[in-house]
Amino acid sequence: MTDFSDLLSGYRRFRQTEYRRQRDRWDELSEGQAPKVMVIACSDSRVDPAQIFDTSPGEIFVVRNIANLVPPFELGGGRHGVSAALEFAVTQLEVPEIVVMGHGACGGVHAALTRRFEGKAPGAGGFIAHWVDMLDEARDRIVAQYGEGEEAIRALELETVRVSIANLRTFPCIPEREAAGTLRIQGAYFAIAEGVLHVMDDSGAFAPA
Ligand SMILES: [Zn+2]
Repeated sequence: MTDFSDLLSGYRRFRQTEYRRQRDRWDELSEGQAPKVMVIACSDSRVDPAQIFDTSPGEIFVVRNIANLVPPFELGGGRHGVSAALEFAVTQLEVPEIVVMGHGACGGVHAALTRRFEGKAPGAGGFIAHWVDMLDEARDRIVAQYGEGEEAIRALELETVRVSIANLRTFPCIPEREAAGTLRIQGAYFAIAEGVLHVMDDSGAFAPA
């Protein structure tokens, strides 16, 4: 098992190798960032966008959360972490592309499908339940079609990408820029079992990259 002391060993390796190799780049990055892509991915430890897309520091602006979800544009008392990150990436950094990446074996999707945290108190599963209830409409539609087996899981994992993309477009700053041709939204799905990335086309269908 990896613990914090292993992470510190990793940090020392990083300082001695990769950091030195990219010293010029780090000097440049200390002046500011200008990533060209925002990636919205799951927090799952197996699907690190920087690793899957083999990127260098400064290249991707990443938000990760349970099941790679973007909530719809909404006001109200909560702390809107995804909305703040989105606002920063789109209106301040002016990223020209946003990629929403779902993945296989997603615990968040499993929770949405099974509703295993429904009725739990916040801190005991309730936050997860309320987060993934964003998928309820998709979940009910998929369960009606496929039941609750493997097929439904895969279908809902792919649907998280479409739901997040639809919700992205409820933020006025997104469709504005799409219409102006300065922002493009992409969908992707990383199948952990095969190690294969699937890319979504304009019709919403996924195919291996
Ligand atoms: Zn996940």
